[in-house]
Amino acid sequence: MSKINLKALSKAAMEEFVKEQGLPAYRAKQILPWIYEKKAESIEDITEFSRELRKRLSDIAYISNLKLLKRQVSEDGTEKFLFGLEDGESIESVLIPDEDRHTLCISSQVGCAMSCGFCLTGGIGVKRNLKAHEIVDQIIAVSRLVKPIIPSHPPLLKGGTGGITNIVFMGMGEPLLNLDEVVEALHRITEFMGFSKRRITLSTCGIAPKITELYRRAPHVNLAVSLNAATDEVRNRLMSINKKYPIRVLLDACRKIPLSPRDRITFEYVMIDGINDSLSDAKRLVTLLRGIPSKVNLIPFNPFAGSKFKRPSDERVLAFQEILVREKIYTFIRKSKGQDILAACGQLKANYK
Ligand code: SAH
Repeated sequence: MSKINLKALSKAAMEEFVKEQGLPAYRAKQILPWIYEKKAESIEDITEFSRELRKRLSDIAYISNLKLLKRQVSEDGTEKFLFGLEDGESIESVLIPDEDRHTLCISSQVGCAMSCGFCLTGGIGVKRNLKAHEIVDQIIAVSRLVKPIIPSHPPLLKGGTGGITNIVFMGMGEPLLNLDEVVEALHRITEFMGFSKRRITLSTCGIAPKITELYRRAPHVNLAVSLNAATDEVRNRLMSINKKYPIRVLLDACRKIPLSPRDRITFEYVMIDGINDSLSDAKRLVTLLRGIPSKVNLIPFNPFAGSKFKRPSDERVLAFQEILVREKIYTFIRKSKGQDILAACGQLKANYK
């Protein structure tokens, strides 16, 4: 019989497991913090348990760990981690250090089914959904590997999880197409690891009905929407999901989110030369976002081998930004990080061809 992976168990399943073993219920309450706060790599590490109990548990159960296959550091300090999963598939996570924050970008699927033409991840297709523990394990694994980067910063996670201050679901995959596991992962990241939902952002290509469901099941997580175009005609060409959920439907779902007064939805806009970067596009964007508490992140296109798109000039990006800013929309130009190691937005493909 194959062993039970304790990391794969939800709280309820852990309680059930402990009960089946004839152990007192408090054992479940002890195991969870050993996995999520102390980051035990094996049952042997749970030194709070007697040697005998550890041996007994090890005979029937184990704790899985992502396998670090490759670690690359960009000249700008961005780090990319290639992790192997138990079934041999692999995923990437990216750590982006900044002055006052250190953001970990995590994957939610192996590959991605959305096949957006400007995104390298889309080119590999989707292999499978990640399980909640595989999503969370990216945080556990990276926090084991990196030192607290801002020593003066109070530990944000129970057990002081390295220097990670923010988490973004912006790696490989479309998180809203794996909603059950993503919601369970969010639960574990917040409840078991003590991470504030305010420091977590989930980015979607725009699965409109799932946006509504996300907010019902995981309120207060920050939402980012990859809008990337200001007309359906252009968006259809760039993102085929737009044919199913056109801009109006997507923005209607956004309008219905019960945001707290200070919260905003982030709209990501990949700027592609000659495709979606005109001043009329900027003006259309202003009209579209009217009435939605929003913030816009302009991401100049990150090129990759074989892509037919180009990045616009800095002047063009600035002129686009100016139009939005004039209309009092908070608009930021995202410096692309980690391009030299293919760690920037849309460049993750793990070791898939
Ligand atoms: N599937 C989700 C999560 C991925 S986030 C989503 O679509 O939002 C990845 C972000 O990088 C998205 O905003 C996407 O629009 C952007 N992106 C993809 N390819 C890119 C590229 N080549 N250059 C710049 N940004 C890109």
